[in-house]
Amino acid sequence: TDIGAQKDRVVTEEEWLQKWETGNIGFHKEQGHPLLQKYLDVLLNGRSGLRIFFPLCGKAVEMKWLADMGHSVVGVEVSEQALKEFFAEHSLPYCKEPVPEISGAKKFQSTSGNISLYCCSIYDLSSSIVGKFDGVWDRGALVAVNPCDRQRYASLMITLMEKNSSYLLVTVSYDPNKHKGPPFYVPECEIKSLFG
Ligand code: SAH
Repeated sequence: TDIGAQKDRVVTEEEWLQKWETGNIGFHKEQGHPLLQKYLDVLLNGRSGLRIFFPLCGKAVEMKWLADMGHSVVGVEVSEQALKEFFAEHSLPYCKEPVPEISGAKKFQSTSGNISLYCCSIYDLSSSIVGKFDGVWDRGALVAVNPCDRQRYASLMITLMEKNSSYLLVTVSYDPNKHKGPPFYVPECEIKSLFG
C-alpha cells in the first residue's frame, strides 16, 4: 500500500469544531472502548492513584471510568462543546477557569478535582503546564493528528511521560488509498520510528 496517499492531508481545527457542532462524531463510543478493558492491567501495572493523560480526548467515557477507579485524569480537546457534553452526560459538576500560561485556553475541572480537561490545542501544552503522566490512553489521537504533525505530536507526548509510564495506543489498519482519513493509517514501522 502507498502510505504516502494521506501524507499531505490536513484537517483544520475549524473542521473538528464543525464536526462537533453538526454531531458528525462517529468516533465517539458511548460504551467505552473494549481494548481499554482488555489492556487495563498493562496500563495500570498494579499501581493505584495514577495520573492518566487523554490526548485529543473528545468526550471519551473512559475518562470517567478511570477517575471512578481512583486515578486522576487530564485531557486536552479543542472543542469546548465536547468537554461540556462530557460533564453534562455524566452529571458531573465542574468549574471553568482560564489557563494563565496559554492565551485563550480554558481548564474544565470536575468539582471533585480528579478530572481536568484543557480546552486548547495539544500543541499548546507542555510538562510545565500539565506535569508528567504515569499512563496515556491514545485512542483516536495519534490517528487523528495530521500526518505532517506526527513527529511533533510524538515528541511532545514523550516529554509528558514519567519514567515508568505506560502508553496504550490504538491504531487502525486499512488501505490508505481507499479512505482519506481521519482516522489516518499509521503503519507499525512509523510508530517505531516516532516513539523509539
Ligand atoms: N479520543 C477521543 C476523540 C477522538 S476524535 C475518543 O476516543 O473518542 C479526535 C478529537 O481530537 C476530536 O474531538 C477533535 O476535536 C480533537 N482535536 C483535533 N485536533 C486537536 C488538537 N490539535 N488539539 C486538541 N484536540 C484536537
